Amino acid sequence: MVSLDKQHFEPRHNLPTPEPESPSLPRSRKPYRFSTLCATVENPNPGHKDQHGSSSVPIYQTATFKGVGGEYDYSRSGNPTRTHLEHHIAKISSAQHAFAVSSGMAALDVITRILKPGCHVIAGDDIYGGTNRLLTYLRTHMGVTVHHVDTTTPSTILPHLIPGKTAMVLLETPTNPLLKIVDIAGISSMVKEKCPDAVIVVDNTMMSPYLQRPLEHGADIVYDSATKYLSGHHDLMAGVITCNRDDLAKQMAFTINSVGNALTPFDSFLLLRGTKTLAIRMDRQQATAMLVAQMLQTLGFVVHYPGLPNHPGKEIHERIADGYGAVLSFETADKELSERIVGATRLWGISVSFGAVNSLISMPCVMSHASIDPATRAERGLPEDLIRLCVGIEDPADLLDDLQHALLEAGAITVAANDFIRIPNAVSKAVEKLALGERRTQREGETEDREWFVSAPGKVILFGEHAVVHGVTAVAASVDLRCYGLTSPRHDNRISVHLTNIDNFYHEWDLDALPWDSVVSVLPGEEHPETLDQRLVDAINTRVLSAENMPPKSYAAALAFLYLYMTLTRGETRPSFNITVRSTLPVGAGLGSSASFSACIATALLLLHRRVEIPPLPAPSRVPSDNDPGHLHISHQGRRAIPPTVAEEINRWAFVAEKVLHGNPSGVDNAIVVFGGALAYTKPGFARKGGMEKIHGFKSLKFLLIDSKIGRDTKKLVANVAMKKAEEPELVNAMFQAIQSICDEARRALDDPELTREELLSALSALIEENHSYLASLGVSHDSLELIREKTASEPYRLSTKLTGAGGGGCAVTLVPDEFPTAKLRALNEDLRSEDFEPYLTSVGGSGLGILSPYNHESHAHAQPDLYKGPISPPPTPAEFSEAGSSAKRVREQFTDATIDELSQWAETQGRWLFV
Ligand code: PLP
Repeated sequence: MVSLDKQHFEPRHNLPTPEPESPSLPRSRKPYRFSTLCATVENPNPGHKDQHGSSSVPIYQTATFKGVGGEYDYSRSGNPTRTHLEHHIAKISSAQHAFAVSSGMAALDVITRILKPGCHVIAGDDIYGGTNRLLTYLRTHMGVTVHHVDTTTPSTILPHLIPGKTAMVLLETPTNPLLKIVDIAGISSMVKEKCPDAVIVVDNTMMSPYLQRPLEHGADIVYDSATKYLSGHHDLMAGVITCNRDDLAKQMAFTINSVGNALTPFDSFLLLRGTKTLAIRMDRQQATAMLVAQMLQTLGFVVHYPGLPNHPGKEIHERIADGYGAVLSFETADKELSERIVGATRLWGISVSFGAVNSLISMPCVMSHASIDPATRAERGLPEDLIRLCVGIEDPADLLDDLQHALLEAGAITVAANDFIRIPNAVSKAVEKLALGERRTQREGETEDREWFVSAPGKVILFGEHAVVHGVTAVAASVDLRCYGLTSPRHDNRISVHLTNIDNFYHEWDLDALPWDSVVSVLPGEEHPETLDQRLVDAINTRVLSAENMPPKSYAAALAFLYLYMTLTRGETRPSFNITVRSTLPVGAGLGSSASFSACIATALLLLHRRVEIPPLPAPSRVPSDNDPGHLHISHQGRRAIPPTVAEEINRWAFVAEKVLHGNPSGVDNAIVVFGGALAYTKPGFARKGGMEKIHGFKSLKFLLIDSKIGRDTKKLVANVAMKKAEEPELVNAMFQAIQSICDEARRALDDPELTREELLSALSALIEENHSYLASLGVSHDSLELIREKTASEPYRLSTKLTGAGGGGCAVTLVPDEFPTAKLRALNEDLRSEDFEPYLTSVGGSGLGILSPYNHESHAHAQPDLYKGPISPPPTPAEFSEAGSSAKRVREQFTDATIDELSQWAETQGRWLFV
């Protein structure tokens, strides 16, 4: 188990000593320690006292200064807030000169302007991607020669040292993300000996002046991306440069003044504030980093962290630095496994950068170092599977717990003999394949004899409908009225489909009679092509469905089901089963019922074809307890989650089903019903960046969804809006712009942690009203919808309502405050029903896809963790739908006969759903 010892070796700060305040003191004072220096900001010009004696340095938010011949005239050249900051940075870096500029890269830009065409630069081969990009630019545009060498082996530099040519040696230590150590002191003296004019530059971002001050080891110029540890909160971009040489300082001051990239007064203030807590943050961060590194190493991963006893650069690092820092990386030897781990963490935010109070996780090859081409990455030994961890100040136990859960969920470790153990890579590959259903040889010929219950929510557009067609962002969310699917095995080589909400459609087919000669199977691991296989569509149409006299909706649903069933089938393994689908969503009301149906059939078919499996999770997890670090205790049960790879596979296939149903769907409905939550969607091809973006802060909201039961003609309504736009472009575009602002405002409000729930609801109410009024002006509302609005807005309800989806009938959504009295709600429902509307109280923005877990973990998890490694037990048939020894048919009948309320109530009370 991990221990806290030897996490931080003794500091060796050798910083300026303040003059004793009084010569009469009995003994001279000791130099201030680093954290004291950090916390105390000196006045750079003691002659200029602040007129009000402010304790914190004021922000001189001014571009110009009055008068002639004063210390300041123009903020590009100098600003008092910045001067304070620069003085402070110089003080904590043991430097004569310091400059604050607009980013770490701006700092390097200022430094490299010392170079002239023809100059040679030697740099490391494991450096920050942005540094690499700037050096490439200098090489390709400025006539500068750049040699990338392994600076961890100083001798590799020697052949490139050419007196008169080598102008700069650029070092970074520890390197990022491999945490290799470069001997700044050794290299500096070697370079100086052969090329005395060469300038040694060190990127000190990974350490900060607290842990490493390279000027003390022979560097000429040091820079930090102050965006990282110096500021510490990821709320500003800044770079700082320090040096002791007047000539270099003069040149850099000239550049900063000329190009105007000095740090703004406000950011200078923020950065000064951040530096005050640098030492205390760093202490906590690196102590936790050590625990994380030890935990990962104990599990058997290759871990890169200079604090670990086997780190090859440990000894050099300890000579030049005062701590090991808070960035580490580890290898899993499997890129997909790494992606799963990164995706499964919750507390560790997926983000580039580091140095903030919050912990981050990333895969450098696909994020921060993606700008380096893959061949160069390989050449420089950067593993594609590398995971970088940047440790923040959260509670160490929470960070370890979250990481362990992610490793478990991703299949990198398992629980055995009361401890976590690493799953060997070959096995972990197999787990992944199992998740994607690649156990072909083993399973070939086997059929699925289990029942599966699956469900998917609907979707509702909260803001931006219609305008979305014209490039405005729409906000859509999942709505917890669900479509449920139950599959029951048959043993007669037939499949049957029962759609209780679509004309109570039931049909069955002999498997041998399907047009197998027209199908091209998509094998596990392959993706369905972008376009549908028209040959198969035609074959199903002409040879299977044409003879039947089916209503159009059932026909389309059967076509989508058969298309997926056949495309997913491999070889002779053709599962024979019945699928019954029931929906608590009104069908055809614009609430994503077809997406929800598609997700249900895709999930059921992927499970039945054994192309996805639900791994045996959650397992009991164990973390060292604070009170008893030597002992293990069982922490909370793992998250009930469908693994991301499975969800993504389902999403892809649900989209194929949607294509069969709709031709050219946007994918928004699909993504919502599979992943749940809320997202913002902007149609590609307009001025704004197109695509989908998850709205992370979305908090589940209560809505009354009211079906006006009036048929819609979406195409006609969309065409009418387009016509209106053609006739009155200025007016309509102005309305679209206003709707865009509504969507932006809604996203901002949903994402604002400062807003109270009450403020959020009241902001959303106002936006709902506003959005509806524009939709009404666009002509897409309807008498029934207006009546719904009137009723819900009237006394005593006073609720805000807007139409949703294409409108023209369809549905309305009414925001219901959390504390809205039940009696009032009942009265409103009755009121609405009396007008023949159908209200549904639902939560919006909740879970996505659900699969009833086949694992009876509630009863066994604690007692017999070993069960998780054993064979998977069949899902017990829900008691409410079965009797002892009942046949599959009986189960199906009960599923079919339960009322909608019984169905959703039953589903809600089941603890065994795994959700996305
Ligand atoms: N140097 C290192 C080691 C970095 O990690 C970064 C940014 O991630 C930079 C320099 C560039 O700093 P900035 O993003 O502030 O421009």
